Amino acid sequence: MKEIIQEYKKDMMVTLTIEDLGSDGEGIGKLDGYPFFVKDALPGDVIEAKVMKAKKNYAYARLIKILEPSKDRIQPPCGCHKQCGGCQIQALSYEAQLTYKENKVKNHLLRIGGFLEREIKQVMNPIIGMEEPFHYRNKAQFPFGLDKEGRIVTGFYAGRTHSIIPNTDCILGVPENQVILEHILDYMNTEQIKPYQEETHQGLVRHALIRKGFATGELMVCLVINGGSLPKQEKLIERLQTVPGMTSISYSINREKTNVIMGDTIKTIWGSESIRDFIGSVEFKISPLSFYQVNPVQTEKLYSLALEYANLSGQETVWDLYCGIGTISLFLAQKAKQVYGVEIVPQAIEDAKENAKINHITNAEFYVGKAEEVLPEQYEKHGVYADVIVVDPPRKGCDEVTLQTMLTMKPKRIVYVSCDSATLARDLRILCDGGYELCEVTPVDQFGHTVHVETVCCLQRVNM
Ligand code: SAH
Repeated sequence: MKEIIQEYKKDMMVTLTIEDLGSDGEGIGKLDGYPFFVKDALPGDVIEAKVMKAKKNYAYARLIKILEPSKDRIQPPCGCHKQCGGCQIQALSYEAQLTYKENKVKNHLLRIGGFLEREIKQVMNPIIGMEEPFHYRNKAQFPFGLDKEGRIVTGFYAGRTHSIIPNTDCILGVPENQVILEHILDYMNTEQIKPYQEETHQGLVRHALIRKGFATGELMVCLVINGGSLPKQEKLIERLQTVPGMTSISYSINREKTNVIMGDTIKTIWGSESIRDFIGSVEFKISPLSFYQVNPVQTEKLYSLALEYANLSGQETVWDLYCGIGTISLFLAQKAKQVYGVEIVPQAIEDAKENAKINHITNAEFYVGKAEEVLPEQYEKHGVYADVIVVDPPRKGCDEVTLQTMLTMKPKRIVYVSCDSATLARDLRILCDGGYELCEVTPVDQFGHTVHVETVCCLQRVNM
């Protein structure tokens, strides 16, 4: 490879045509193969940028002027989107976002997975986008603090800082968030309840957690406080219970100097301890500390595809690795003979068991542990068997040991649900070299306006 002689220096101005997006949503433009990463620049933009930091193989530059906007650039609907950074690509039309995500998966299969263009064409389905790419999140955590004038504010942290930009109406969240936050601010102002301040470790209210069951309409509010109790809590309850759907009001005690939002102790002060939601016909109980998918509408589409790809007749033994709270396991259990879930976080397994119970599902069993330890151990010691193995790993993908054990166990089908198409492509290559054929690849958009994309794949065993 030709060595790139780095000739760019800080403060130099460059003109770039943006070609791609980086992993954090930064635009990437190249000059003689040397890439510049530019925040807020979008594919198709021609821009003027100022070099901020130039390294040997790449540079960071700041967007100074858009000379020619990308044809896919739109006026972002949220006025705070630049400061917030949560929606990395909100200025890209939703259609263009979907195309970008679809191409990202394709390119990873091609470049990292080593699949041929022709093979990819045969297996790849169009991305499943959202019907409504806003208000899709069922959970939000808003920090509280003081502005420069000493007023109580809530909103979001400005990108990579802990200063709060006031905004009670994040467009990814449910409309009820705003109503609830206004009630909390009103209660704090009237009753003189102080927000928490990190620098001094003084003040009471740190965060408000709001969750909604989309299928049930049930709402939960949990205030995270730096103290043992909530003064005049009845005044808060009075206000919040007027919000239609309010089901659970609680506080969580967190007195630590920490970035972790929730404390371990939860005290319910009104209504139920939890709310309910459904994904498909499976019911979930959600408490303030439960793990739960944040976009239940797209999750249902994603996991329904996983179920379809598992192609169950009722006789199968299925392993669901990285099972979390068992969403996929419980989906599968309705169609399989027996399901085994494996998950590293004990609390998630507690929830999975509880959710199985609520749904009267008796053919799902759960193990706490690492997939790469539990699966080989169960296979070697007990000779466990699988007709189908489903995996839904975190972004780093499956451990090599897990993949090898799966290959040794020779299930008829493997369903791979992924939140990172680069590690997905890497793992698919290993599985395909080990005797599987890639049959279906479907990207699903769970997080509109971010660069993330989920993918569900079906693999069939070829050499019996
Ligand atoms: N399908 C799940 C979500 C999967 S997200 C659900 O419905 O809830 C990936 C999960 O893998 C997380 O819950 C994470 O805790 C778990 N995990 C991470 N590393 C793991 C490992 N080595 N073995 C097993 N589980 C792991």
